[in-house]
Amino acid sequence: MSQLLRHFVGGCLVDGASGRQSNVYNPALGEVVAHVPLASTEEVSSAVAVAKAAFPAWAATTPLRRARVLYKFKELLEANADRLAEIIAAEHGKVHDDALGEVTRGLEVVEFACGIPHLLKGEVTENVGSSVDSHSLRQPLGVVAGITPFNFPVMVPMWMFPVALACGNAFILKPSERDPSAPLLIAELLKQAGLPDGVFNVVHGDKEAVDALIAHPDIQALSFVGSTPIAEYIYSEGCRHGKRVQALGGAKNHMVVMPDADIDKAVDALMGAAYGSAGERCMAISVAVAVTDEVADALVARLTPLVRDLKIGAGSDRRAEMGALVTGQHRDKVKGYIDLGVAEGAELVVDGREPKLLDSAGSNGFFLGGTLFDRVTPDMRIYKEEIFGPVLAVLRVQSYSEAVDLINAHEYGNGTAIFTRDGDSARAFAHQIQVGMVGINVPIPVPMAFHSFGGWKRSLFGDHHMHGPEGVRFYTRLKTITSRWPTGIRSGADFVMPTMK
Ligand code: NAD
Repeated sequence: MSQLLRHFVGGCLVDGASGRQSNVYNPALGEVVAHVPLASTEEVSSAVAVAKAAFPAWAATTPLRRARVLYKFKELLEANADRLAEIIAAEHGKVHDDALGEVTRGLEVVEFACGIPHLLKGEVTENVGSSVDSHSLRQPLGVVAGITPFNFPVMVPMWMFPVALACGNAFILKPSERDPSAPLLIAELLKQAGLPDGVFNVVHGDKEAVDALIAHPDIQALSFVGSTPIAEYIYSEGCRHGKRVQALGGAKNHMVVMPDADIDKAVDALMGAAYGSAGERCMAISVAVAVTDEVADALVARLTPLVRDLKIGAGSDRRAEMGALVTGQHRDKVKGYIDLGVAEGAELVVDGREPKLLDSAGSNGFFLGGTLFDRVTPDMRIYKEEIFGPVLAVLRVQSYSEAVDLINAHEYGNGTAIFTRDGDSARAFAHQIQVGMVGINVPIPVPMAFHSFGGWKRSLFGDHHMHGPEGVRFYTRLKTITSRWPTGIRSGADFVMPTMK
């Protein structure tokens, strides 16, 4: 019997009223396990009204008290980490330990947000004029919304709401309709931690709910993470409606392997970064740029048996290194790219279309094996487009500068890495590359919570990256106060611009 999920509004689970719903699958079995309600414009409006009513008291709560709620939430997250990982593995398909890693990376943003009394400290200048002082402070925006993708149902919402709540905002989360259960447990844990009802709400939905959030006059800011076409749409529509928007999009992340690199370490890094989470990570490495044919030959020779022997099974199977893809539709799309690569003339070294699976994999599960292409060229669609599956393309270049030019010419600029033993090339790479997050001998350079996460080019629309100091800036607005104490001697009206005379 599949379960009918509910929204979470005003501290309670609320039945969907639109009559529209979507299937939620267990990808390892290929079976429907739940139905998620898809909110109508009216349901979004009532959730916004609830959040708006809860906002003033939360904004007036001292930062220290807000931090205490987050401390409690962090403890509850730790206690429930395994449960959350099980829910993620069951609906997303990724393996349990990977899901646990996602929970940990989200939890670190909560730890960062617990420092909010310090983070909200403003600036003061004494005597900007005679007996005149200035100070600046940051205040919350009001009701803000987060729209999140399927691939990190816990971590990506936690890039957003811990900082937003710590800053004093009320939050509406519109999670992915493909794996919507983990955000409901998060809502429950926030309530248990003492967050007042209405400050955090989960409204499930699709385009209708998102459009309602974009157009609603009481939503002050939109945070989005997902594919580039939707990110661009949300950014332009959100701005048109006068909102502050940060919209993170898709990626095609390159890892450059220099001739002086430790090839074994580079191979280990590529295996984890390309095939972990079945390649469904925005920071996954999907292109290995081998500098010289010799490096390419060595990489392909060592990768081939490892990719062939990947252990693939249900997310709950502790032996599995890689799980299923999120839906049958997405599996077919990735499979279509493997067909395309062959048609485009790339050399298919390992074909994941008929994978060997562990016995935990259901016969109708949405599985694909690891796939490795060699001799991919920049004109091929399998190079240009985001595949978002366990497919690694090897590109051969003959020099460091050819590698840099290749990456800089790509439309995406989320993450990249270089493997080398040479400090000169590493430093030059960090300086020259047109990408937001760069790893030096680090394949997945996801910044820690106290730094900020975000790409360049068509991987991010807007000015602010997520969490860290950028998150605090995004979820607050600056106010500057100029005051005169004592009020001084009366000097009459002055009709010219005030200056320091
Ligand atoms: P998606 O763009 O399909 O969906 C993201 C969100 O947008 C979901 O909540 C979905 O309901 C909503 N949505 C979908 N279609 C919409 C429409 N037409 N109008 C309004 N809203 C719509 O993305 P996805 O498939 O869930 O996630 C995978 C994508 O997310 C990949 O492209 C990946 O690179 C990207 N991603 C990027 C980052 C990053 O940090 N840059 C992080 C994670 C994922």
